[in-house]
Amino acid sequence: MFDAERFCMEYSIATAPRGHQHKRRGWANVCCPFCGPSSGYHMGINMLKGYSVCYKHGYSWLPKTVAALARTTLQQAFIILTKYSTGEVLEDYKTQIKRKDKLELPAGVGPMQKMHWDYLKSRNFSASTAREWELLGGGLHGKQAFRIVAPIRLDGVLISYQGRDVTGHSKQRYKMCELEEEVYPCKSTIYGIDKCKGDKILIVEGITDTWRIGPGCGSTFGIEWMPAQARMIANRFKSFIILFDAEEQAQEKASELYGYLTARGLDGEIATLNTGKDPGELTDKQAKEIRGDFGL
Ligand SMILES: [Zn+2]
Repeated sequence: MFDAERFCMEYSIATAPRGHQHKRRGWANVCCPFCGPSSGYHMGINMLKGYSVCYKHGYSWLPKTVAALARTTLQQAFIILTKYSTGEVLEDYKTQIKRKDKLELPAGVGPMQKMHWDYLKSRNFSASTAREWELLGGGLHGKQAFRIVAPIRLDGVLISYQGRDVTGHSKQRYKMCELEEEVYPCKSTIYGIDKCKGDKILIVEGITDTWRIGPGCGSTFGIEWMPAQARMIANRFKSFIILFDAEEQAQEKASELYGYLTARGLDGEIATLNTGKDPGELTDKQAKEIRGDFGL
């Protein structure tokens, strides 16, 4: 849990008084630091589960909320969170305090070049995919050379990135940002979470699956999902659909995730594609149909 009441008291942050319409048990209600001074205690911080949500603008990544409330940096917010948290919430943040405050993309990463566009085209992605996901390209040299680099955002904050090989010759198809360079580990978040606005999320394995299906679809950066990722889903959504690749190992991981999320009160299902394909191999038309089927 995150003791938001004690945090607010010690940092002189006003919370909704007892009897206030927005005061709810288990929550600390504060003026949303993102909606301006007249927000009238619209932001609730769920103390047991450690997440923050504003009645007006929606979910807000807790470290960002804490940083804004305490008028400090993200790094200081991680320290605050560590100080006032226990259990799972502490697990989410305790290793973050040595990290950087701002992500720097590696040298050589810039606008996409011909090789990157060619690769996208060969996978039947259009230019709008590159725009939607702010895709960049690694040049001929550097850590992300010959890769499409996908920035990873959490509540607007650039926290990490992942590179996808475009040559077909690299043994490492996907290359993550190094741990010590990340502002927050990508394996603690869901790729595309900022574009999942409703109560429902479609969960896929990888970033290219998310590009294919589009907003409303988030990926776990591989089938080896982490508890922090599952907690983020459980805190932000009421229902889910898992659409992992058809292979046995992926389906096993899908059913473990299904178990975790339903145990936390979410409604959900595991879907498979009747085309026998993996989500990343779908055509745009098929992806559109899936969006329709799943109500995204
Ligand atoms: Zn707000």
